[in-house]
Amino acid sequence: MIGNSFYRDTWAEIDLSAIEENILSMKHHIGSSVDLIAVVKANAYGHGDAQVANTALSAGAAMLAVAFLDEALALRNQGITAPILILGAVPPEAVKTCADQKLTVTAYSNEWLNAAVPYLEGATLLFHMKIDSGMGRIGLKTENEVLEMTRLANSHENLHLKGVYTHFATADELDTAYFQKQLTCFKTLIRSLPLDDILVHSSNSAAGLRHKDSLFNAVRFGISMYGLSPSEEMKSLLPFPLRQAFTLHTKLVHVKKIAKGESVSYGATYTAKQDEWLGTMPIGYADGWLRKLSGSEVLIDGIRQKTAGRICMDQMMVTLPEALPVGTKVTLIGTQGDEMITIDEIASRLDTINYEIPCTITSRVPRMFLKNGSIMEIRNSLLSDV
Ligand SMILES: *Cc1c(COP(=O)(O)O)cnc(C)c1O
Repeated sequence: MIGNSFYRDTWAEIDLSAIEENILSMKHHIGSSVDLIAVVKANAYGHGDAQVANTALSAGAAMLAVAFLDEALALRNQGITAPILILGAVPPEAVKTCADQKLTVTAYSNEWLNAAVPYLEGATLLFHMKIDSGMGRIGLKTENEVLEMTRLANSHENLHLKGVYTHFATADELDTAYFQKQLTCFKTLIRSLPLDDILVHSSNSAAGLRHKDSLFNAVRFGISMYGLSPSEEMKSLLPFPLRQAFTLHTKLVHVKKIAKGESVSYGATYTAKQDEWLGTMPIGYADGWLRKLSGSEVLIDGIRQKTAGRICMDQMMVTLPEALPVGTKVTLIGTQGDEMITIDEIASRLDTINYEIPCTITSRVPRMFLKNGSIMEIRNSLLSDV
């Protein structure tokens, strides 16, 4: 059995045309002298790594970025040969694998680079130097450390410095003071480097959309490639409209009438106030539809309906206006008619950020990839070897 089919009546739809459009808009915004690095870590924020990567590359992305080595290897295993930057720490013992697979690693301390060199066995390592300008995660913090790493690279001909970058902590906030402080720090720390010959990048989506002065010659485009605003407060500042790519759907698998006074689901927390129709849907918290969403709304026939009782591991219930047929489509994220439930709405219900929502929808939910409205591919990780 291969992973291009599924039987369960729950699936996510990934609109690759929306991703393509968001990338083309961003490329137009940053101009042709700035490279776009498509950030496809975490299975492309839950959307599907290889499918998003291929869409991004054909829309003109120059490079891909992932969080760690295994994610990069997963892309290589799916036939992707484009340059890939690994943003997080790679164990020094694993750098030979990176070199063999032509993956670009992040050198974030001289201790790390010194430890890595012996494991290369002479193979050529491509790396970007990471500056910690105020995020406090990984990276060099002083000019001396930068000079030392440059010296180290110059003394090993198999160490190739291909880029330098930093990451902003507050680029999505209206107050720009901390952002400016980081930008100044970055510019100061990199002034000894051959900036015309390497990739220099500081911007995530938020900075790339807002701050032309932080573009340098590449931008790391993540959340907004998927059509989501980096924050609520940035929504009014977006230079072009974004199109959300991720929607989530299920179907009614059982419909019945319950009598006034009957209760629904674990804890019997919902009790019918009158005789009413109830539908059961095959989705639950093991799919990432978290229990905290109990009582939230779904779309059926273009109308918002309230879910009833606690969300179970694999199922949940919804009150219906009438006896709807089994098989009726239910949209948990997305549009039906004039109504839309956005990822931002779900994030707000969960007191979190939109980034978390598609990442949280587990691999148990098959992904259906659409282009111009047609199904291109289905990925069901339960029935697949990749
Ligand atoms: C995740 C990540 C990004 C992408 O950020 P978005 O806000 O999603 O655009 C860029 N750079 C680094 C270092 C990251 O970890």
